[in-house]
Amino acid sequence: MTRKYSAAQLRAIVAGVLERAGSSAEESRTVAENLVLANLSGHDSHGVGMLPRYVDAVLEGGLHPNAGIAVKLDGGSLLALDGQRGFGQVVGAQAMTLAMQRAQETGSCVMALANAHHLGRIGHFAEMAVERGLVSIHFVNVQSRPVVAPFGGGDGRYGTNPFCVGIPLPGQPPFLLDFATSRVAQGKMRVAHNEGRQVEPGTLIDEKGRPTTNPGVVVVPQSGGLFGALLSFGEHKGYGMAVACELLGGALTGTGTWHQPADSRRAVINGMFTILVDPRKLGTQEAFAREALAFVEWVKQSPPGAGSEGVMLAGEPERRARRQREAEGIALDDQTWAEIVAAGAKVGAAVA
Ligand code: NAD
Repeated sequence: MTRKYSAAQLRAIVAGVLERAGSSAEESRTVAENLVLANLSGHDSHGVGMLPRYVDAVLEGGLHPNAGIAVKLDGGSLLALDGQRGFGQVVGAQAMTLAMQRAQETGSCVMALANAHHLGRIGHFAEMAVERGLVSIHFVNVQSRPVVAPFGGGDGRYGTNPFCVGIPLPGQPPFLLDFATSRVAQGKMRVAHNEGRQVEPGTLIDEKGRPTTNPGVVVVPQSGGLFGALLSFGEHKGYGMAVACELLGGALTGTGTWHQPADSRRAVINGMFTILVDPRKLGTQEAFAREALAFVEWVKQSPPGAGSEGVMLAGEPERRARRQREAEGIALDDQTWAEIVAAGAKVGAAVA
């Protein structure tokens, strides 16, 4: 069963629980807004369903409320920052604000953000940059559980390592590509499991390395306490991108890479390697504006293929979902709601 909630209702509930868990009013509001925006954008995997995990991580000590970024290196267009296990929604925005200022001054910025707690939708940060006319590229690793199998492998070895690129388009909504390098995000398996749905073949292997459509294999321990694993998107290509995310987002930022068996800790730590470019400063602005728009128009003129409503550009599905869900509300399944109520109870917040 699912029920619909308004964005405002959910923001108030999430902020209330986070405040009881130790976050300032401002931090609670920022995190709540970010999670609800993920739901509005159609990405329930990164929405309010994350709240129980955040509360557990705070109670365990793996997520530090009210922490801010520390500047480890400020070298002109190079910035190395440490998120100090603060809420990713807060330290990620702080890091982007510094990096965007730098890119606007010098034309570009390479920003390494280490040790942020879960950054949520990476597209959120690209959206901050494209609003200022900047190109924004992100490679991210995930330290929580090795839930994705390498191409050719039979068990999970690393996380869902997202990649994102935002490109501003003059006079038009931006191109915003933002995805997990696994075939689907881990959180979408939690949502499918909670809703009692099977998933598409080719998405998962079970704890013995056999193909399965049961999302539970990556949500609850299977035989021998083992988990199954997600497969990469695009076979060896997605796998290669996931490794690039681990090497850049994990190793190069200083966050660390994953090379150990699963543990049961609830914190999710992200490292994010970001490249920002101001196209106005590269000397190609005129050609960029003209050619980008011409290409987008050309691509969108492709006639709809069989069973399709036509060509979209990355970023469009999220904008459509926002319009629809702002108007109609956000559907949450009973299990997700029960987990949010239980998370509230752990910190003494009554969720109604
Ligand atoms: P997804 O498979 O839904 O793909 C989303 C991307 O594809 C978007 O850019 C979207 O605009 C584009 N897209 C979707 N349908 C399209 C179509 N028909 N035509 C053109 N473009 C289309 O996303 P996902 O892999 O499930 O990832 C969901 C979210 O999870 C992302 O925001 C990602 O950043 C986030 N994530 C975060 C972490 C973390 O640790 N912080 C880890 C993994 C994923």
